[in-house]
Order: sequence, then structure tokens, then C-alpha cells
Amino acid sequence: MSDRYALRWCPGCCARAVIAPLPQLADDAELSRPLRAGEATEGFFRRNYCTSCGHIWDSVELPQSFVQSLLALEEELEEQRRQVAMLKFLLASERKARGEGVPAEAAPPLKVAPSSRRNAA
Ligand SMILES: [Zn+2]
Repeated sequence: MSDRYALRWCPGCCARAVIAPLPQLADDAELSRPLRAGEATEGFFRRNYCTSCGHIWDSVELPQSFVQSLLALEEELEEQRRQVAMLKFLLASERKARGEGVPAEAAPPLKVAPSSRRNAA
């Protein structure tokens, strides 16, 4: 099997499947560009087609070190969200103890999304 139709993970069927790159009108140089304006790291953008489920999606090929730095920031962000939720809870508890009303927007329900990546490891 050629690399052009490699077995890759499909976000549509959540399994490895034969993935075909959709025909692209631009050449490879035009498909490489920064993720955002001013970003030094460039990604290679590609549109894919899953031959098993028919799902079509865009992917970006990035340097592994860049992706790892993003994942590290994601963990840090989750920790910051937990700390903010705890501080809101403590503030609401203090206000309740003092008999002050707590505006609904000041104390939203604690809601921290679990990290699927961390659990998958
Ligand atoms: Zn699929």
C-alpha cells in the first residue's frame, strides 16, 4: 500500500482506516502556512477522506515538539480552571456564611472537563 492511502486514525469512525487525501488544487508549498498570523511554526494543511465511513476532515501536520508544547499548556490550563472553580466556590461559601446573596453569575456550577488525553495514557 502506498503512503498516499495509508492507515490513519479517523475522527469520524474513531478507528484506523484507509485515509485518502482529497485532490488538492494547490501545490505543497501553498498548503504550508503558519497556524496564525505572526506564528513562526508552520503547519501543512490537508483535507482527508475516510474510505470506511466517508468522513471528510481537515488535518494539520505539525512538528511533534510544537504539539507537545500545546499539550503541556492544556494541562496547565486545566489546573488553572480547577483553581478558578475552587476560588469561586470559596468566595460563594464566604458570602453565604456572611449572609450575603450570591449572584447567579458569580458562582456558576463547578464544571471542569476531564482530560481525555490524560486518561488515555
Ligand atoms: Zn472513518
